[in-house]
Amino acid sequence: MTTLSPIKTFLNYINGSWRAGSSDETLASINPANREVVGYVQSSTREDLNEAVEAAKQAQKEWRKLSGTERGNLLFKAADILEKNLDEVAESMTREMGKTLPEAKGETARGVAILRYYAGEGMRKMGDLIPASDGTALQFSKRVPLGVVGAITPWNFPVAIPIWKVAPALIYGNAVVLKPATEAAVTAAKVIECFNQAGFSKGVINLITGKGSVIGQGLAEHQDVAVITFTGSNSVGKQIGQTAAARGAKYQLEMGGKNPIIIANDADLDQAVAAVLSGGLKSTGQKCTCSSRVIVQSGVYEEFKEKLIAAVKTIKVGNGLDADTWMGPCASEDQYNTVKYYIQKGIEEGSQILIGGDSPESEELKQGFYVNPTVFDNVTTNMIIAQEEIFGPVLALMKVESIEEAIDVANDVEFGLSASIFTKDISKMLTFIDDIDAGLVRVNYETAGVELQAPFGGMKASSSHSREQGEAAKEFFTTTKTVFIKG
Ligand code: NDP
Repeated sequence: MTTLSPIKTFLNYINGSWRAGSSDETLASINPANREVVGYVQSSTREDLNEAVEAAKQAQKEWRKLSGTERGNLLFKAADILEKNLDEVAESMTREMGKTLPEAKGETARGVAILRYYAGEGMRKMGDLIPASDGTALQFSKRVPLGVVGAITPWNFPVAIPIWKVAPALIYGNAVVLKPATEAAVTAAKVIECFNQAGFSKGVINLITGKGSVIGQGLAEHQDVAVITFTGSNSVGKQIGQTAAARGAKYQLEMGGKNPIIIANDADLDQAVAAVLSGGLKSTGQKCTCSSRVIVQSGVYEEFKEKLIAAVKTIKVGNGLDADTWMGPCASEDQYNTVKYYIQKGIEEGSQILIGGDSPESEELKQGFYVNPTVFDNVTTNMIIAQEEIFGPVLALMKVESIEEAIDVANDVEFGLSASIFTKDISKMLTFIDDIDAGLVRVNYETAGVELQAPFGGMKASSSHSREQGEAAKEFFTTTKTVFIKG
């Protein structure tokens, strides 16, 4: 694609034009497969942020007055442009954060689908007719936008997460300032170029890159940002939530997980192994909904373990751009060090590595941040590797006697994002659905992912308890006016 900035230094997109930050400093985005620089992005300042917020504030005044259909038509255009540029955007994602090209293409296609879903929302109802006790009066509710939305996003889904925040915010009449994760900011710039080409009026959508502590925190603090939507780590999320709450801004936090997958004695073990592989190790275990605790009933523990190890042995680790790679590198050196730290912790805590724990030997892969898929045996719930989010290709096998014990163990963490059970027994399924602490509940399916038209979010420390995606986004990105007209 010739039009999506071929240059290596990417600019901010503020008030309808690409422009440099005021500091003259840039931040490098590094390919975790080989440490090459994928691109440089602006290390923006608070002054740049103020400009972006002011542009959004002014633009929103007119944007909110367009009809939903008019706003939707622009989102349809952005979807078409992203679809046309899918290969370039996906390749950029693989080079920036390491996931395999088929996964990156799948994620970009999902971004297109999300845009179209919310484009269609422009033609759906935005309120209810409510009977008035006075027969001559008309009473109705009307959903209205909130103003400027600040979106702060992580690197692990650099296309889908920004889009599932930006698209609903826009369709409901808000303007947006997006601050993407620095590690995936080049990909974010390419996505925003699709919005630029779609012809949104200036200031409606703005992209500003820079350090989280400067631009992310700045958005949370900014008086003119009415709404903060954040996906990322718990520590940063908590701080953002406190900052937003202190000034009365609406906020939404989607954070970590320590997702369990329960394998009952009557499970189809081949299906369960496939789900653990896909849900636990795809994207190198760097999905917030990844399975990281595999809780297996004792009757099938040994057989399941054998099948799992046989399957893990088939995984080809490599550069995500290579056609035969099943699993790419960790997304960054920091992430690599974190994964290695937890592997060491697991060993010190006394659980045994059944496979992995090390890095690939080849000279080519030594340049990157690779960790082989790792399975720990005999993990108990008190261990650090059973409690803390690792965000890497590490599975903890845990043995339990009963389904009740399995659910107790599954719930014995601070998180509650996604959970799954493999069983053929309907009563076990129903018990699990009722008793598990998780926002996403799966039966005979992997923990990772959720359909874009369904609500997404977690319980306990995984979320601030609102939901994203589907109709839930309308709840978050609008407020209600109750109108009473006396006839
Ligand atoms: P971080 O919390 O480190 O970063 C998320 C975003 O916040 C980035 O844009 C980052 O900017 C910014 N940021 C960093 N520090 C601050 C700060 N002090 N104030 C304001 N903003 C800041 O998370 P990661 O990007 O490392 O993402 C991984 C985490 O995200 C995992 O814990 C994972 O579970 C969670 N996650 C949750 C999902 C969910 O929906 N529940 C989905 C995907 C991921 P910068 O990059 O410049 O540091």
